[in-house]
Amino acid sequence: MYLTVKALVLRVTDYNDRDALLTLLTQENGKLTVKARGLRRKNSPLVAPCQLLAYGEFTLFEYRGMYTINEAHSIELFRDLRRDLMKLSLGTYFAQAAEVISQEDLPNPELLSLVLNSLFALTRLGLPEQQVKAVFELRAACIAGYTPDLFGCHVCGNQSPTLFDLSGGALLCQNCRAAASGIRIPINPGMLDAIRYIVYCDSKKLFSFSIGNENLDQLSSLSEAYLTTQLERGFSTLDFYKSLLI
Ligand SMILES: [Zn+2]
Repeated sequence: MYLTVKALVLRVTDYNDRDALLTLLTQENGKLTVKARGLRRKNSPLVAPCQLLAYGEFTLFEYRGMYTINEAHSIELFRDLRRDLMKLSLGTYFAQAAEVISQEDLPNPELLSLVLNSLFALTRLGLPEQQVKAVFELRAACIAGYTPDLFGCHVCGNQSPTLFDLSGGALLCQNCRAAASGIRIPINPGMLDAIRYIVYCDSKKLFSFSIGNENLDQLSSLSEAYLTTQLERGFSTLDFYKSLLI
């Protein structure tokens, strides 16, 4: 049976001397593992559309639950991303996080669109990497089912909260700071505005906000800590990206 899907390549793993396994995030079928025959041979027509972070259309042949690529055409290769190690490593982190959040055979078009828009934002919009990273992390946490409660202090409703409770995903004011026992990150009104914008805005306007440099580093640290706390894991690709910043 043949199946045609639009998909982003999240991971490429060597299978043997000639073949490779690809993890795809498809629009229609969620995450799929597919075999790319002959990908490791020179001059394979699959090389361009089957590289990490390539977005394209794939015709798959399915037999007994195993998928093999019959044909592939790239739609967007994000060439600018591949010329910049920092951006490429950040994009690779987005792919690894998307692989963790997505599920086999469960369509997640919102997640695919978030990764694609984040890769576009890194290459075309000229935004600071930290801003794109924060947007990706907070929205990915929401898509994974961990939308934070941002109304006001989680305990008393105070509209001037000063802390963000990482494991509870909620705000606290100065008086109620003792209500949470885990890690609480200080926030200021500028950061809170940015967090609310990212969590609540229409997905088409995700990157249409600006934030001062003084808040950007803190926002990026908070969003990263929130995503990794909620998913209860770290990412080797994130560690690599951060090792390049030193
Ligand atoms: Zn309070």
